[in-house]
Amino acid sequence: MNPKIASSIDEKMVKKYSQNAFMYVEYPHKSFWSNQFSEQDFKEGLKSLLASQKDAPILLYVHMPYCQKQCYFCTCRVEISLNYEDVKHYLNVLYREIDLYQKFFKENSMKPNIKEIHLGGGSPTFIYPAEFDQLIEKLKTIADIENLAEFSIEIDPRRVKKDRLDYYHNKGINRISFGIQDFDLEVQKAVNRVQPASLIEKILTPEVRKNFKNGVNFDIICGLPRQTVSSMKKTMEKVSELSPDRICLNYLDFSPKYAEHQLLMPQSEIPVGYERKRIFLEALDVLTKNGYVRTGYDHFAKPTDEVAKAMAKKKMAWNSLGYTPGRCVDIIGIGVHSYSRLGENFYTQNAYELEEYEFLVHQGKFPVFRGHKLNQDDVIRRDVIQQLRSYFFLDFSEIENKYQINFNEYFKNELRSLAEFEKDGIVELNAKSITITPIGHQFANLICKNFDQYLHSRETSSQNSNHNSIQSSCINQVTGS
Ligand code: SF4
Repeated sequence: MNPKIASSIDEKMVKKYSQNAFMYVEYPHKSFWSNQFSEQDFKEGLKSLLASQKDAPILLYVHMPYCQKQCYFCTCRVEISLNYEDVKHYLNVLYREIDLYQKFFKENSMKPNIKEIHLGGGSPTFIYPAEFDQLIEKLKTIADIENLAEFSIEIDPRRVKKDRLDYYHNKGINRISFGIQDFDLEVQKAVNRVQPASLIEKILTPEVRKNFKNGVNFDIICGLPRQTVSSMKKTMEKVSELSPDRICLNYLDFSPKYAEHQLLMPQSEIPVGYERKRIFLEALDVLTKNGYVRTGYDHFAKPTDEVAKAMAKKKMAWNSLGYTPGRCVDIIGIGVHSYSRLGENFYTQNAYELEEYEFLVHQGKFPVFRGHKLNQDDVIRRDVIQQLRSYFFLDFSEIENKYQINFNEYFKNELRSLAEFEKDGIVELNAKSITITPIGHQFANLICKNFDQYLHSRETSSQNSNHNSIQSSCINQVTGS
């Protein structure tokens, strides 16, 4: 990283801009969605999606919550079990949810254009081949598996050998994502996840890379206990050597109130504030020097990767799986807690508790527990936030042409609220655009926060003082393994 930029982000600045902010996977954030959102509302969303854009490519997300061991940092929707019968039982409920979709599509003469499938969790690698075969057969009832543009899976490298990767390849999977988190042994011990780099080296052979032609992703976490600037440097050098196509570099979401097991980490050794920012900057520096391009706030890709190319064309899409090349914007999520984005106007989420999920599915109901119908203001603000977070730049005329508004007039209060950021060299403002400077890239979510009408209302309303905190609702933003 440019040393001038690194030195501008000093302790004083990090302290000044240390407020929490959402990751803005969606807008409005899930904590503002309504629990009154009914199954009928969900069906309305599903119909509107397929009615208005018949051939719109859809991503089908399948959630498998089970893992064999708890990683202490994890905030994913996870159930820990060593009993494989639990996995089989869950899959049977999942199949019944798939049946609900199949029946609904048939009754409404709909043929969803599912172009991508992502198997996430939890640990989808916990599903053994016999049951995996059944899952694939079941998915075939709603998706044309042979003609997907992308079929991806999250891999727990501790649980698979090369033969399993060959098996996935033979099933049509063309993209894999490894949960790496950190290569330092002391950090790994502190988070209850020991997996030496040699494990990855052994399975990520040239043949495997060739088989998964849509690429390899690594998930890394910044801010884990015992992580230091120099340990992160070594981890990222090893990452660069292993050469994944994409890297997701998330900050640790420390929310023990909602993920109690996080208290098992040595808390006094969790880097915070300026130290945590320095660790992120070090990772950024190593990746940049090794030729990776920053694709949005917390993602990196090789310049040859589809996402990097999509970024250059402003076609990227940002969702709970990270940045994607933008092929699919709409998502149908199946499985416990999964969320769906149905067209321009609907967000929905499945039941969070397994019992409730199972109960609803067995009643023959889509297991929805909350959702949100976006109004036009939501749609405009989502677009603004996503552009700032993804490209660090916003051309007002794009928004004006799309939504027939006068940007400076519509967002006059929000633009005024950016004055302090401008003074500190975090943004550059003029009558036509907002540019988040390279210094400001590290604080992009805080800039987005200025356009969040819901958060603004919550923060200014004393009546809402009992609502969930930002931390509470950040949980489950990232996927597992
Ligand atoms: S990080 Fe992955 S393997 Fe570990 S508990 Fe979370 S979902 Fe399971």
